[in-house]
Amino acid sequence: MVEIYFCGTRGSMPAPGEAYVRYGGHTACVALAHDGFRPSLVLDAGSGLVNLDRVLGNSPFLGTILLGHLHWDHTHGLPFFAAGARRGHKVRVLLPEQGEDAERLLGRAFSPPHFPVELSALGVNWQFGSIEEGEHDLEGFTVLALEIPHKGGRAFGFRVSDGTSSIAYLSDHNPLALGRGRQGTGELHPAAIALAKDADVLVHDAQYCAEELPAKAYLGHSCPEYAVALALEAGARRVCLFHHAPQRTDDALDELADRFASCPVPVTTTFDGLVMRPG
Ligand SMILES: [Zn+2]
Ligand SMILES: [Zn+2]
Repeated sequence: MVEIYFCGTRGSMPAPGEAYVRYGGHTACVALAHDGFRPSLVLDAGSGLVNLDRVLGNSPFLGTILLGHLHWDHTHGLPFFAAGARRGHKVRVLLPEQGEDAERLLGRAFSPPHFPVELSALGVNWQFGSIEEGEHDLEGFTVLALEIPHKGGRAFGFRVSDGTSSIAYLSDHNPLALGRGRQGTGELHPAAIALAKDADVLVHDAQYCAEELPAKAYLGHSCPEYAVALALEAGARRVCLFHHAPQRTDDALDELADRFASCPVPVTTTFDGLVMRPG
């Protein structure tokens, strides 16, 4: 069984303040563990990575951080990851291949004058590499990586399985780029369907509501209505709404949860600190 730790569930930028305490305000980070073990595969490294520090207690992190793409909200936890500095740590960071050395590409965001800490300062036990589309064996999980439409650089969605349960992760997804689809919220395209196929959990971009989408779609995101349609099409058994807009308050997220309470597929509005054991 894959254990899922939702460490950061916001999109775009962190959302601090009293209106955001129940769902939390950290940006994208989902840690996966084999049943009974510490998390060893992390999807994205937004500011939620600091919550993985708490999950790990005093233990170092040994494993892989898989970046779906390189936007700030998916990378800016990296230099603040305390478990990646504890004695015994070993961290491999992988990102979508895009024709440039991985460390140099990521290092553009982690170098002066943009940021004082360069990736090389993280130490020799941090390694950086790229992956192509296809199936990979990472930390004992089978990971299918497929390119999905987003905006601004190559983006991958993932499907992770341990042989008993599976999770699809499409954190930032703009299916409208491929057409309006049956519902007008975006095309149910082959890559999205392949990733979500029979998944126990579909973690999906829910940055906007369907009514916000027409005005905001150019920013490269999706809505819960699309996520539900994709789950039904692909046979996914649960939808996890993820990558909440930073201005979406706790009350607004409660309303969103209510709106999808009686869907044909169960829908969870994710929050920082949620732990899920599907299957
Ligand atoms: Zn994002
Ligand atoms: Zn993005």
